[in-house]
Amino acid sequence: MFRRIIDQNPSDDGAGNGLLGNIQFSRDYFDSRPGNELACTPDDDTPPDEAEMREFKTDHPKIILCEPIFTYGVIGRQGYPNAPGVTCDNIYPRISHRMETFGHNLLHEYTHWDKLLVDIVQGPFDIPGIEDVEADNGAYGCWAVRQLDRPQSQRNADSYAWLATEVFWTQTCFGTHGPLQEPRKEDNA
Ligand SMILES: [Zn+2]
Repeated sequence: MFRRIIDQNPSDDGAGNGLLGNIQFSRDYFDSRPGNELACTPDDDTPPDEAEMREFKTDHPKIILCEPIFTYGVIGRQGYPNAPGVTCDNIYPRISHRMETFGHNLLHEYTHWDKLLVDIVQGPFDIPGIEDVEADNGAYGCWAVRQLDRPQSQRNADSYAWLATEVFWTQTCFGTHGPLQEPRKEDNA
């Protein structure tokens, strides 16, 4: 799945799978038409989403970037204003929400795109698409994804995003900082 997202053809330019160029990104906006509110779905029970993929069964999906995503830094350097870079120094010593980046959230959204990835899970695992599973403790965050059972994890977007994030930071920081400790419930996000 990650290989597909990075590049379908290893001889390409390293800029990621060309299909990603078919995604239209837009910042959250106020839709004044009757019955429509913020493009990012408001929900009283949970914090607002970082991003949402729309029309994920089509060749040209949309990703709405909701306000919270702009608070996430990027790897090693500052992101948007008030979004400090994420580095080994500021995530250590344990796996936590502090290692979540802007890119982590994009990766999460990419996994929802059926046209890009669904064939990988549909045939071998009989999974009709990558979703945000309904789970008692939620399906988002470094701790929550570890509470899912295997069938839930296989169809849950944030499980893939957290696998990539954990592996990346573990490999990147291990040499200088040593092993990262396991996530705690209070470090979820
Ligand atoms: Zn999702």
